[in-house]
Amino acid sequence: MYADLKFHNELRELVPDHDHGIFRCPVDRRASVKDAIEALGVPHTEVGRILANGIEVDFSVLLAAPRLYEIFPVAVPWDVTMPSVLRPEPLRGVSFLVDENAHRLAGLLRMIGMDAATCRGLTDEDIVRRAVAQSRIVLSKDRRLLKRKQIVFGRLVRGVHPWEQLREIVDLFGLRTRLQPFSRCIHCNVMLKSRTKTEIQERLEPLTKQYYQVFQECPECKRIYWAGSHHERMRERLRAF
Ligand SMILES: [Zn+2]
Repeated sequence: MYADLKFHNELRELVPDHDHGIFRCPVDRRASVKDAIEALGVPHTEVGRILANGIEVDFSVLLAAPRLYEIFPVAVPWDVTMPSVLRPEPLRGVSFLVDENAHRLAGLLRMIGMDAATCRGLTDEDIVRRAVAQSRIVLSKDRRLLKRKQIVFGRLVRGVHPWEQLREIVDLFGLRTRLQPFSRCIHCNVMLKSRTKTEIQERLEPLTKQYYQVFQECPECKRIYWAGSHHERMRERLRAF
């Protein structure tokens, strides 16, 4: 007995070469739909909806035959604060845990004001624990990690270059209207505090003191931020973005 799995839209880029993205799977063991999908290389984090002979089902349903399972990607923009059949317990907000294999993406997400923690020195178990404990969306290029059941919200990062990855994440989660560029420390991931020139002037170079009026400080690492030339270049790139 066989079940057919049909992958729709961009999920077809994640499965091995196949006409029309349809795969025939033997139904001879107690495998769930999640198991069958992931055996073909697609982490469950990429899936937004599953129809079994036209009826919506969740990941835990056992594969049955003869039946057609249609697998759809998450709908864009993905509002993670809304419950769905596959993810009945939504998140309260959008914050990320960025795997080391996409670590430059974390810096860019912080630059646009998003909460993006990194995984330096963490094992896969640590990553899972932290994602669950802090309700974070895991961003990774590692399919094996994203197949872990406890990671409910995640994204297999497809882009190669960090700016391309940033665009991918901003578009996927519909973040364009909530960008707060230069509000967060790109080193520590904490929100910056406004500082008057008098409060910090002994720490500024003479020219910085002369030409800039608006300053921010990271409460964690004490770095001072101002709208200098680096800031201007990033702002230009963001404008183009
Ligand atoms: Zn800092």
